[in-house]
Amino acid sequence: MKIEIATLFPEMCEAVLGESIIGRARKKGAIELKCRNIRDYTLDKHRRVDDIPYGGGMGMVMQCDPIFNCYNAVCNENNAKPHTIYMSPKGKIFNQEKAVELSRRDFIFIICGHYEGVDQRIIDKIVDEEISVGDYVLTGGEIPAMIVTDAVARMCDGVLSNSQCFEDESIYSGLLEYPHYTRPEIWQGEAVPSVLLSGHHKNIAEWRNSKSLEITKERRPDLFDKYQKK
Ligand code: SAM
Repeated sequence: MKIEIATLFPEMCEAVLGESIIGRARKKGAIELKCRNIRDYTLDKHRRVDDIPYGGGMGMVMQCDPIFNCYNAVCNENNAKPHTIYMSPKGKIFNQEKAVELSRRDFIFIICGHYEGVDQRIIDKIVDEEISVGDYVLTGGEIPAMIVTDAVARMCDGVLSNSQCFEDESIYSGLLEYPHYTRPEIWQGEAVPSVLLSGHHKNIAEWRNSKSLEITKERRPDLFDKYQKK
């Protein structure tokens, strides 16, 4: 899996996606990730990438050409056309199902907007889908792109130790996950549920499943109903 991110702030993405599990996965080659600075693809001598909106109004709009030049460089250098995503509050809301779908692709290109967003014509020309990370507006597409990249990358082969790490988790399994406990056995007078100390695998699995059902029913009745209808 290869992911390329086009952004005005590549250091922001590198700082986050160069650390921890994703950083280690990159180092060992389980995923390939590259952050490109859109400014490197402008022909403007002041490295400008935005201009005022036609029709007036607040803010600036990112121009087509720097993004298009960046996209062409990505295609040419990889000799392939990536699945292209524009992070946008107008997109379809991101979820685990979408993360699974994207993790099966070989090559993804993510465009991060800034200011008022990007010129509509570049979306019409190269974007396959617009994705939102939620019903709120952020200052830029970098955090959304990192959310998508993290969620997608952790499901790629060789990133986590095995697929059970994410298959049992909240949402993926259809339910919210059961509570976790670790040492010490008693912390500030609160004991770990005794079943977890029993070593009885069947009882532990049953307890975890009943806790998952209980928590999902209480916190996410929508997921609980969907799970029951499966
Ligand atoms: N004027 C735009 C609108 O009203 O739809 C919002 C622009 S926002 C300030 C700047 C950039 O941040 C967007 O182009 C997009 O790339 C990113 N962004 C902001 N909120 C987002 C969200 N909820 N999901 C994904 N991307 C988002």
